[in-house]
Amino acid sequence: MGETYHQLSTRADPALLSLVIPAYNEEEVLPLLRAALTPFIDGLQMPVEVILINDGSTDRTLDLLLKWASDDQRIKVLALARNFGHQMAATAGLDAASGDAAVILDADLQDPLEVIPAMLERYRQGYDVVYGQRTVRQGESGLKRLTAWAFYRLMRASIHPDLPLDTGDFRLISRPCLDALAELRETHRFLRGMVAWVGFPQIGVPYSRPARAAGQTKYPLRKMLKFAWTAAISFSTLPLRLSLSIGVVIAVIGIATGVMAVIAKLANLYTAPGWASQMVIMSVLSGAILISNGILGEYVGRIFEEIKGRPLYVISRRVNLPAKSAPRDPKDA
Ligand code: UDP
Ligand code: MG
Repeated sequence: MGETYHQLSTRADPALLSLVIPAYNEEEVLPLLRAALTPFIDGLQMPVEVILINDGSTDRTLDLLLKWASDDQRIKVLALARNFGHQMAATAGLDAASGDAAVILDADLQDPLEVIPAMLERYRQGYDVVYGQRTVRQGESGLKRLTAWAFYRLMRASIHPDLPLDTGDFRLISRPCLDALAELRETHRFLRGMVAWVGFPQIGVPYSRPARAAGQTKYPLRKMLKFAWTAAISFSTLPLRLSLSIGVVIAVIGIATGVMAVIAKLANLYTAPGWASQMVIMSVLSGAILISNGILGEYVGRIFEEIKGRPLYVISRRVNLPAKSAPRDPKDA
């Protein structure tokens, strides 16, 4: 698939830049984040708002965030009513952002602040999405690196041809793209795939990913697998079609075997009772049926989830933010 041609037009820096930072049990890293972020936003050429989302932390993350927000008006806090997961927390932050551009960052300083000016430069050139592309990863386990490596290649080969390689959610998104993204209200969210889906001129800036500044990863293997599954299944019906094709192949084999059995019987070649072949066919068939049923069930389950039309997240508290900032309606602009 070729890449859409966009004519880029240069523009000024965003009049307001939003930094969107989800935090889940990050009490260890927040003081470091604060120490790094404050001089960084002081040094930027434009006004900045920082939207910190407390994703239902069980530690003192919320206390630290509220204290920070009361010391600094640029710091805005969204507290979700429970742990909704990183993708929802980031969505809540993007919805609340009022800047002309927003950057999604990890709270653990794994997304280096120094990359943001490079992203802004691309923004001024006219790019609407600028994603951080990791060239090196430090301080992460071999397993994590391997699974991430395989994940991006597999996804690109099968389901997300536009998904840039080796990118996380660390990216700058312009206001037109944010408005488009705000209209995608699906429950099972794979944000980076959704950002690729809306289109717009996109480009990467390479960076080397440092280790977490403090604390443990909040993405254990279990959550990563769940995430990869959502990425695979919420964007395409390929698994559904796959189960159909496997079913067809197995059915053809079954029919061929049946025909052969009849011919053998008629030709009097077949004297054995045929118990073994019966068993093989039965188990293969029932296996195939179970697999396709399972995959079907996955989709039915997701239809059920979507049809409930629930809000994606619930906010329990807002600080330094207007009472209701529903996603800006592009039609109002
Ligand atoms: N996070 C979150 N909710 C969760 C899990 C993680 O908001 O349920 C946040 C976390 O605080 C961090 C970011 O998402 O700011 C990325 O998580 P983490 O750094 O643990 O993931 P990793 O970089 O190890 O993949
Ligand atoms: Mg991290």
